[in-house]
Amino acid sequence: MELAVRPEMHTYCGGLGLLAGDTARECADLELPVVFVTMVSRLGYLRQEIGPNGEQVERPDRWDPRSWCQPLPTRVVVEIEGSSVKVRPWLTVLTGSTGFRIPVVLLDTDVDGNSAGDRTLTDTLYGGDLTYQLKTEIVLGLGGLRVLRALGFDLHTYHLNEGHAALLTLDLLKDAPRRDGKAAARRPSDPWQEIRRRCVFTTHTPVKAGLHEYGYALFERLLPGEIDLTELKKLAGKARLNMTLLGMNLSGYINGVSRQHADTARRMFPRHRIHAVTNGVHLPTWTHPAFAQLFDRQIPRWREEPEVLLRSLQLPQSQVWDCHQAAKRELLERIRQASKVSLEPDALTLGFTRRIVPYKRPLLLFQDLDRLVGLASGRRLQVVLAGKAHPRDTAGRQDIQRLHELIRELDGRLSCVFLANYDMEWAKAIVAGCDVWLNTPIPPMEASGTSGIKAALNGQLNLSILDGWWAEGCVEDVNGWSIPHTDGADTDRRDAAALYDRLEHVVVPCFYNETERWRSMMKQAIAHAGSYFSTQRMVRQYATEAYAH
Ligand SMILES: *Cc1c(COP(=O)(O)O)cnc(C)c1O
Repeated sequence: MELAVRPEMHTYCGGLGLLAGDTARECADLELPVVFVTMVSRLGYLRQEIGPNGEQVERPDRWDPRSWCQPLPTRVVVEIEGSSVKVRPWLTVLTGSTGFRIPVVLLDTDVDGNSAGDRTLTDTLYGGDLTYQLKTEIVLGLGGLRVLRALGFDLHTYHLNEGHAALLTLDLLKDAPRRDGKAAARRPSDPWQEIRRRCVFTTHTPVKAGLHEYGYALFERLLPGEIDLTELKKLAGKARLNMTLLGMNLSGYINGVSRQHADTARRMFPRHRIHAVTNGVHLPTWTHPAFAQLFDRQIPRWREEPEVLLRSLQLPQSQVWDCHQAAKRELLERIRQASKVSLEPDALTLGFTRRIVPYKRPLLLFQDLDRLVGLASGRRLQVVLAGKAHPRDTAGRQDIQRLHELIRELDGRLSCVFLANYDMEWAKAIVAGCDVWLNTPIPPMEASGTSGIKAALNGQLNLSILDGWWAEGCVEDVNGWSIPHTDGADTDRRDAAALYDRLEHVVVPCFYNETERWRSMMKQAIAHAGSYFSTQRMVRQYATEAYAH
């Protein structure tokens, strides 16, 4: 549903879209014959402004596909609620490091001949009500498959990234009898085997409540007669149409996005075999230019073979520190220009920027303001915050407003800045320019997370709850630190206390008093993140384990 091709194309919301974009960039580098399909999202997800009371104000985030994409003459039709919706593809091409090119197809229903309502179906990413959402999934799933066929792609494997595109299996189901028909009466014992051979499903959802479901009445209204409901209910759930179940039941290879998330997913879906493919990031995209130059000089071939970044351990500490300080100065200058806030280049800087959703607990650091202010004991501590909340996420929007109140309350005691309209451009600067990357999710909600990997790659030390990628990436006191987590009613207070303890007794003293140790940990962070948590390792794993299943 989302894919971050470039900052100017507003076709993404958060980690899911960034991961898809990094995957596409990596496939181009590895010269894999793939095609990506996503939505054109002409109005983007949302452009965030902050109102006078610290509240999030949402504006459309329009971009013009003509600036970055080429319109293709192909048209396909999907019938939605009795109306023939025309879908046209736009094309943008990603070029890999060797010049290999892969197509990204963006679906658009703003086409002459479509009704006014249908023309808006590819406007707002994750917009509208349930009916709008199901319609967008019809466009993505059925429209996407039909566009690929109309463009002449003959595909071996369909990789469904989350349930949003799961409806493409409905067209595959229609094909299945035809294929079997050739073999006449020899009805296969498993009618879905052929489809399973061709589909791969990646789940990113760690809780049942996060799975998106639709009532069958709505499905029948939008897609009457599309498929025999008795058959669909066998695949997608008795009571409600569950897109994750539909995708999983028709996929021969299913995976979660970290080891821990795969364990969680196995408990949620005990009847499915679920593999683990831990997420990574596209190193050339997320390595700050100063570090990239250092690696080019000292660790040639890191771009082709990220495993060699293990040799970061040999980098001269002073040079690692210089690269980091260059990235930090750049970030602070951007912040000064955007928000008029001047942060100090020598003060310990914590970064917390990502989608604002309650499970990530953006307020946890601010549970006890006196303790927070006191723990730096005269040393300067400063915090960089950013993130958008979904317009319907009341709690997330309240968190943003509360963060602004807290920033005002802390004025003069602790420098905190909230940067409006977090996007890929801001992310690049922030994951390179802070000292410590903070993450405080409620486990096991962070299926993977990837921004901590981007930060580590640039020498930041993660200070995070053991969840997602960090549960397997953390080597305590070597490349960062965990925050001990306690379940139960009191969880926020206790986790916050554990966070303050770590900051006060470990992180702050290490930063200010143990320069050598800090810099050697930075090298460990780079070596661990770069050599293992790359999309190159991830895509190779998909290619050998999932696509060849
Ligand atoms: C990497 C990235 C994310 C993912 O952040 P998490 O902390 O993993 O949730 C979200 N938004 C942007 C802009 C990113 O670059």
